[in-house]
Amino acid sequence: MSGRTFIHNPGPTNIPDRILRAMAQPAVDFATEEFGMLLDSSLRNLNHYMKNSGPLIGYTSTGHGAWEATVTNLFDVGESILLCDSGHFSHRWGEMCEAQGLEVHWFDTGLRHGVDPEALTEVLSTEAGRNIRGVLVAHTETSTGVTSDLRAIRKVLTDLDHSALLVVDSIASFGCTPLEVDELGVDACLAVSQKGLMMPVGLAFTGISDRAVEAAYANNRHRFYWDWRRRLEAEGYRMFCGTPPIHHVFGLAESLTMIKEEGGIDAVTDRHHRLAEAVRRAVSEWAAAGEVEFNAVNEKERSNSVTCVRLAEGHDSEKVIKVARERFNLTMGRGIGPLAGKAFRIGHLGDLNEPMILGALGAVEGSLRVCRVPIGQGGLQAATQYLADMER
Ligand SMILES: *Cc1c(COP(=O)(O)O)cnc(C)c1O
Repeated sequence: MSGRTFIHNPGPTNIPDRILRAMAQPAVDFATEEFGMLLDSSLRNLNHYMKNSGPLIGYTSTGHGAWEATVTNLFDVGESILLCDSGHFSHRWGEMCEAQGLEVHWFDTGLRHGVDPEALTEVLSTEAGRNIRGVLVAHTETSTGVTSDLRAIRKVLTDLDHSALLVVDSIASFGCTPLEVDELGVDACLAVSQKGLMMPVGLAFTGISDRAVEAAYANNRHRFYWDWRRRLEAEGYRMFCGTPPIHHVFGLAESLTMIKEEGGIDAVTDRHHRLAEAVRRAVSEWAAAGEVEFNAVNEKERSNSVTCVRLAEGHDSEKVIKVARERFNLTMGRGIGPLAGKAFRIGHLGDLNEPMILGALGAVEGSLRVCRVPIGQGGLQAATQYLADMER
């Protein structure tokens, strides 16, 4: 097919040509001062954008690696954690914690809501709740399009004078939704290369607080590859526990340059909000016919990274996704778990701009019409109008 395929999965995301070109280089000697400086400055800049004053640990891995590294370093076998289960990804993280021998308290938010501060207060106030060492939460749960309010979660911990570490999977939200790691007292903030950072999969990170460093040093559990102590004490590229991911570092440096040129991370999250809002305006119009709706019930919890759209009984979301792919050159995320066949997910994170979003919305609207899903008129028009009205 001519033209570009529009990638609207909520990861991996578009890789800008600039980043691809920055990575298309011969291998270099990673022990040189030049590479060391590029690596150091890249990690420092990324940590700055995370708004974290503690250390940042990098890994050559997927997000699953960052999950495992974080849990292995912060908690010993048998310790209690509270896992905020808001959907597929957070649930999988909880399964990993169980496999790691932790005592997992499951806190189910339901598929259509984020963490409810009142319910969280109740759980953490019980005797078992008092013994919880860490609260683990996915900032944005990618399978449902729900973003939890981290400020409210921090407030619960503060009000209860609860000492649990606050551990946040910001894999889908980093660079898309504002996240003040220091200010919110986030003890560990997880991110990856292939979502907001616009890169190929292969790099993952945890920005950690001084409290998290202390917890890692106090934790005697056996570990080696993921050991933060080993990585914190290593110099430069040795932090990666093996050959450093040279080409990904080239890509990361370019990604951070692009973020800087756009005006910094706040400008990038503003753009994500704007484009996400355009998507929401369109979905709101489509929903007027009563056959499609937002999965996220609360407006405030609708994610800047991905919108999960549910179809009424009798419609097949797999068919909509197939039509979008085959006729409109657009890929989307499918419904996961209980939402399989019932929902599709429009990813709107990473390297995107206004015409790309309007093109994507036109393709989704067209696919819904091909599948004879009744939708309200004027979705694309509402999105266009919103973008036109924005003061910038
Ligand atoms: C994508 C994603 C993950 C998993 O990342 P991988 O790199 O695929 O391991 C974890 N959590 C969230 C919220 C995600 O969106």
